[in-house]
Order: sequence, then structure tokens, then C-alpha cells
Amino acid sequence: AGGHRFSAAAGPLPPDVVDEVAEACRSWRGGGSVLSLPFISEAFRELQHETQARLRRLLGLPPGYQVLFMQGGASAQFALVPLNLLGLDGAAAHLDTGHWSRRAAAEAARHARVVTLRHDALDEPAPPRETSPVAYLHLTSNETADGWQWPRLPTSPWPLVVDMSSDLLTRAIDCTGLGLLYASAQKALGVPGLTLVIVRDDLLGRARPSLPGVMNYTALAAADSRLNTPPVFAIFVAHAMLGWIERQGGVPAMARTAARRSHAVYQALDTSGGFYRPQVGPAWRSSVHPCFGLAERALTPRFLEQARAAGLFDLQGHPDVGGLRVSLYNGTPEAAVSALLSFLQEFQRTHG
Ligand code: PMP
Repeated sequence: AGGHRFSAAAGPLPPDVVDEVAEACRSWRGGGSVLSLPFISEAFRELQHETQARLRRLLGLPPGYQVLFMQGGASAQFALVPLNLLGLDGAAAHLDTGHWSRRAAAEAARHARVVTLRHDALDEPAPPRETSPVAYLHLTSNETADGWQWPRLPTSPWPLVVDMSSDLLTRAIDCTGLGLLYASAQKALGVPGLTLVIVRDDLLGRARPSLPGVMNYTALAAADSRLNTPPVFAIFVAHAMLGWIERQGGVPAMARTAARRSHAVYQALDTSGGFYRPQVGPAWRSSVHPCFGLAERALTPRFLEQARAAGLFDLQGHPDVGGLRVSLYNGTPEAAVSALLSFLQEFQRTHG
């Protein structure tokens, strides 16, 4: 009932999580509403520690990392990563794979020296050299707008800084070369307002002196993310969503689901005899954001209109990329995916 949203901007929350949140808005753990839970309370400290512990378990995070709760979205991290990690003279290498990695590089370049690399540059015998030392390599693990995803994190001579906003907890990651991971909460962890930053201890202590105190990773780590009022409600929703993921079987279960669903969508596109045109080749296809176009592009508005009539919303591509896009987040219900697969067939049958 009510149809299904496929927007890339926000991930749906499973009904169990919505119920848990709704209940806690009235009363939580025998106290008052979670909406006005004071951040200085013992109850919030517990909530925060449980949330951090769930994240550490689900990600398989080794010791030696801080889990920070910030605000400002992944977009703020585009600037905060160089301001925190580079000191006054370091350089950052950025892998250019699509819309969001370019946004990250453009913002970082306002604050630091940025070397841009193609995604295959690391395979070359001599990676590019720089006069100021490169402190880390930034990459966007899943290009939300382009439907392009690193099948696994690349090996790199520098610590990896990974924007995982759109595929966090949809697949396992190898933490071996991981220096820092960041993600907005609204796709994988619940609602807007919380930005997750996970940073390796040895990268701390290099912030530019002018950096606002509440945005300083080292100060946040020392204050357990309570330098000032954190996004309490968004952390509560993340806690509930992480509990749900654990009950489903953790990241391995999420990864199997994402692989199965994206495979079904790509299969439908690939076997359409060219009616549907997947935008990315098989090696780099996203398991979260299948992007495609119609061979007959003029039919795109009709596709979207009929999809809406069938209760399938927000299938339009990112405005800078165009075409059509499906989002398959952890919370996307099974019914949404089957309704979409039927619609793809039906639309081709009537317009092919
Ligand atoms: N990075 C990626 C990969 C994204 O998909 C998005 C949002 N679509 C962002 C960054 C920006 O996130 P926010 O709006 O929370 O700043």
C-alpha cells in the first residue's frame, strides 16, 4: 500500500525499525521520549556506545579506529577530511570515478593540493609523484549518481579515505588499508542529521589550527563525540537500523540480498534485446544503484509517468546524469523489487 520509493537520496526504513522509533518517540527504556533525550544523560551515553559497538561488529573493524558522530553530511567531510588530515602542507590524491568523487575533489581543492587520478591509475607501474607528500587516497566506494561501484577497495600506497555514503553495510569491506571512512546516515543508517566518521588513530593530530573545534576529529575523539550537542535522534534511528541489520544476519546477509536484487534488475535490462540500456559495463556495476536508459529516449517521461501510476516513485536518474536509476538499499522491501521487475517487463511489452 502507498507504493514504493526508489530515490537515491534516502533509504527506506524497515517496518520493524519504524515501529521501534515510533514507540521510542513516546517512551524509551522506561524514561521519556527519545525526542528530548539529553545528550549529557547516562542513557544517551549508553545508546551511543551500543551504536558504536554495533558498527564495529558489523564492519569487522579492527582495534585502532575511532568511531565519530558528526553533522554536516558527507558534503562537509569533502572539506573536513583535508582540513583534519593534511596539516598545512600535505596533498591529497583523489580517484575520479563519477559525480560524487568529483564533488569531493572540487571541495577538497578549495582547501588543499589535490592530485586527481583515473580509477585505473593505481595499476600503472609508477603512480604519479608529487612535490608535497600525498597523505591519503580518497575514493567514492559507490557512485550514487552514475551507478558505478568499486568491486573491492583498491590497494594503494597511501591510507584510503572512503566515502561510503551510499553502500555502507551493503557489502563487506577489507579494513587493511583503511585510513578513514565516512558516510551520511540517511541512506544506510536511517535519517538525515548524522554523519559517521571512522578514522584510524595514527591519522589524528594533524588538523589545521583554524579548524572549528567541533569539527576537529582529534577533539571529537577525546570527547567521545560529545563536544557539543550531537544529533541524538538520528543516532537513535541508526541504533535501531543497526540492530535490524544484525538480526537479519549482518553484512553477509545484506550483501547477498544486494547481489541477488541487483543481479535480477541487470538481468532484466540485459535480456531486453536493447530496449533497456544499462549505463555501466558488468565489471563496474553498482549492486545498489542500477542506472539505465531507454533505447528510445523520448519514452523516458512516459516510463516515469506509468511507473508512478503503478506505485513506483523516484526512478528518474540524477539530474546531472539523466536516464533512469533504481536504488536498492538495505531497507528496500522485497515487494518493491518484485513490483519493479514486473513493471520493467510490462513497460517493454506495451512499448517495445
Ligand atoms: N557522497 C555520496 C556518494 C552521496 O551519494 C551523497 C548524497 N547523495 C553525498 C556524498 C552527499 O551527502 P550529503 O547530502 O549528506 O552531504
